[in-house]
Amino acid sequence: MSNGKLSLKKIAVPQPKPHHSLVKIQLAGICSTDIHLLHGYKKFSGIPGHEFVGVVAESDDHSLVGKRVVAAINIVCQNCDMCLRQMTSHCRKRRVLGILNCDGVHAQYAVIPNENLYVVPQHICNEQAVFIEPLAAACRILRQVEISSESRIAIVGDGKLGFMIATVLSAKKFALQVLGKYTEKLKIFRDLGIAICEGERDFDVVVECTGSKSGITTALQMLRPQGTLILKSTYADMAEICLSDVVVNEIRIIGSRCGSFADAFQFIDEYNSDFSPVIEKIYPLTEGTKAYEAASTRGAKKILLDCTS
Ligand SMILES: [Zn+2]
Ligand SMILES: [Zn+2]
Repeated sequence: MSNGKLSLKKIAVPQPKPHHSLVKIQLAGICSTDIHLLHGYKKFSGIPGHEFVGVVAESDDHSLVGKRVVAAINIVCQNCDMCLRQMTSHCRKRRVLGILNCDGVHAQYAVIPNENLYVVPQHICNEQAVFIEPLAAACRILRQVEISSESRIAIVGDGKLGFMIATVLSAKKFALQVLGKYTEKLKIFRDLGIAICEGERDFDVVVECTGSKSGITTALQMLRPQGTLILKSTYADMAEICLSDVVVNEIRIIGSRCGSFADAFQFIDEYNSDFSPVIEKIYPLTEGTKAYEAASTRGAKKILLDCTS
């Protein structure tokens, strides 16, 4: 990926540095962030991709070799003020796999720090493991906001991240509705037993994950006074909202990004969630540009890359 263009390139297999592993990527996901990067977000150039499952081919940590792994995406220094305060995902010197100053996983091989790797237990299949990163991002909400059994929650956005968040919140038996645009996608939510929002308002918590800048205004209008707005979308350009509404209605706004992989693994252990309803198609890596086109199509579900072919 370079200057908003994607191309397929043959390059040498990267060599792992000390305390890093060479991972042979098996399955990778294309997420909205990757599409935004293509449109100029973070001015990224290099190999994109941060959602994957693969097998360690080489490592100076011999216990990792041959293990099936996923990886936390923030590559951190462990030394700055944020790291020392256990806020490593905000490391001042962080690089982010396939997003910020670091090549990603839409490739046959990737080099990843050993400390970022998590071994995937055998009972978790590749089609579940490839969703660990967005699942962790969904679980993050439970770490940031106290949600009670009486809370009324709305998810604005019927996309992939919306589905992950709905999976987490509905498993926890919270009263949940989803607002979306696509009949076919909303059916997936309905199949999970989640109510479709038909103009209801006064929610206690609204999670915005449309990935489009108009979503935040819609989300704001659905909250009760003193409600909590959780923002999950990132986009290349600026969103506009009426801040007076935020002041007058005393809305609490929480930005929410990466979550703990340990939380995500525990969630799958507990609920054995099936993410296959959101998978649209698996493309071979050699058809990567076609896969990105498919993922960019409005209303597309999850596009995966089979990096072994
Ligand atoms: Zn992602
Ligand atoms: Zn740091």
